[in-house]
Amino acid sequence: MGLEYEACAVIGVKIVLKSDIQTITVRGCSHPEVKGAKFCPECGRPMWQSTQEKILDPYTDLYEPLCRVFQGSLYHVYWNSEENEMLIGFGASTSYASKSLVIPLMDDIYQTLQDALQPLGYWTEDVEESFGFHVALACS
Ligand SMILES: [Zn+2]
Repeated sequence: MGLEYEACAVIGVKIVLKSDIQTITVRGCSHPEVKGAKFCPECGRPMWQSTQEKILDPYTDLYEPLCRVFQGSLYHVYWNSEENEMLIGFGASTSYASKSLVIPLMDDIYQTLQDALQPLGYWTEDVEESFGFHVALACS
């Protein structure tokens, strides 16, 4: 197959995988999440808590799960392994050039990304702040 380059433009977020130890946010208990609540109404534990976790492999920990979540959609996951960055968002690439694109509401894109990244522990402040329009040259 060889290397294939594609230009992409997405509305989404950028994850910088700074080191192999990262502070991640995980659910504080096993009860169902109550959106917007700081504490679990059933057991009183914090809804979310920070923890340090070793990232063993961004491919299996992050890339693969995200690709599964967004499979067949117009959400894309681009991993730049040289820069150790991942770009995730709704958008278009040169492989989808012939399709016209109806862009969803910004709030919906934001929510979709949050829903996908939070369970994986990657919805951090930095990631949240990177929400916007990104362009990149991706290599697969
Ligand atoms: Zn609980």
